[in-house]
Amino acid sequence: MHNSRDVDAVSPWRGEFVSAGLEEQFRRYVQARTAQQMRNSLFVAAALFLLFSLSDYALLGYGDRFLALLGVRLVVVLAALTLAFALVRRPALVNSTLAVNLVVFVGVTAVILIVPLRPQTVGTQVPAVMVATIAVYLFFPNRIPWMVLLNLYLGIGFIAAVVAYAPIPAGTILTMTLLLVFVNTVGLMTAARLSRLRREQYASLLEEREINQRLQEEIAERQRLEEQLKHMARTDELTGLNTRRRFFELVEQELRRARRERTPLAVCMVDVDHFKTINDRHGHTVGDRALRALARRCREVLREADIIGRFGGEEFTIALPGTGLSQAHEVAERLRAHVADMEIPASPSPLRPTVTIGLAQVEPGERSVEPALNRADEALYHGKGAGRDCVIEAPASTLDDDEGRPPEQQAGPADVS
Ligand code: GH3
Ligand code: MG
Ligand code: MG
Repeated sequence: MHNSRDVDAVSPWRGEFVSAGLEEQFRRYVQARTAQQMRNSLFVAAALFLLFSLSDYALLGYGDRFLALLGVRLVVVLAALTLAFALVRRPALVNSTLAVNLVVFVGVTAVILIVPLRPQTVGTQVPAVMVATIAVYLFFPNRIPWMVLLNLYLGIGFIAAVVAYAPIPAGTILTMTLLLVFVNTVGLMTAARLSRLRREQYASLLEEREINQRLQEEIAERQRLEEQLKHMARTDELTGLNTRRRFFELVEQELRRARRERTPLAVCMVDVDHFKTINDRHGHTVGDRALRALARRCREVLREADIIGRFGGEEFTIALPGTGLSQAHEVAERLRAHVADMEIPASPSPLRPTVTIGLAQVEPGERSVEPALNRADEALYHGKGAGRDCVIEAPASTLDDDEGRPPEQQAGPADVS
């Protein structure tokens, strides 16, 4: 057996899945193809059966017996064509035991009837019976017990008819019987084997699909994890702000645009005042809550295009695209006031945190935001020294290539070199 799963075990003699549900599913899966195959077999069998009227005529000449045989043959052809055309409209008929058995029964009966109608040619009929036997096993897809039953009927019926209507020696009859036993054994074994192989093939197809399905699920799960990881790398867990890494990514994009469009770009360093005291007095949980509230407060003041990130601990960085120093000063001042206005419930008394903000501008010729951030950090340091809760602007750096330029060319970080 191709694998060790019990669900898709195939019974060796019935040639069917042991599980009735799986057998049903398999039959539905192959129904269209099996119906087509049976249709073709029926057309071919009907045509051949009718063609033998020629040999009837040659052997018997025109007469009652010829006409009786012709009648028998026409009944078979009619039955075969009826089923063939019915299968076109209803392929499910291929699984109808009654319909298929009825037509095969009519055909088999006709083969037996040839003996009394043409007793003098019994010798040539043995191969015909053998071909009919093999045809039943191989070309009319049916459940194996039915095939055996119909062929038993054909074999016994034929031998009985020979005994009754054709006086031939007992030895010849024995030989015929053995030949029929032999051909039935071969036919049965082949049918069972084919039937089993088709099912085993179907079972591997199912298994393959299952593996594929699991693979798809795994891929989806990996994609989900990757998204999650990306989100974690970009978003600070506590405040929901950009992480430091994401902040720099976004600012580098803005910086390129600022250079291209020659627009200014300002940066702020925001540090919470005496945050250690908040933690010490109220505990880390309250400290964390304060950080979240501060982050929300900052975002309320900023525009959609502004970029804010958590630089680390209780420090935030802000980039203001298209904003010169004086305008940035106004924004920072607004932010400082907005924070100072805030009250965070805590015991024994509510918290009123404040922030100090250092401010700087990316200068023309600067290819990274880092120098400006350093200047902003320096300004912040001065702010802390100046009593905190204030905004301090870093003095514009005096870059060599700015000297002697008209002021409009100095306004932004455009690369004019
Ligand atoms: P200063 O006004 O000079 O800035 O005083 P400060 O107390 O804020 O000084 P400093 O910047 O050195 O202290 C920052 C403190 O922030 C230290 C650390 O315990 C705390 N902190 C950093 N990250 C977190 C955090 O995620 N949650 C909490 N609750 N506290 C944090
Ligand atoms: Mg700090
Ligand atoms: Mg601080």
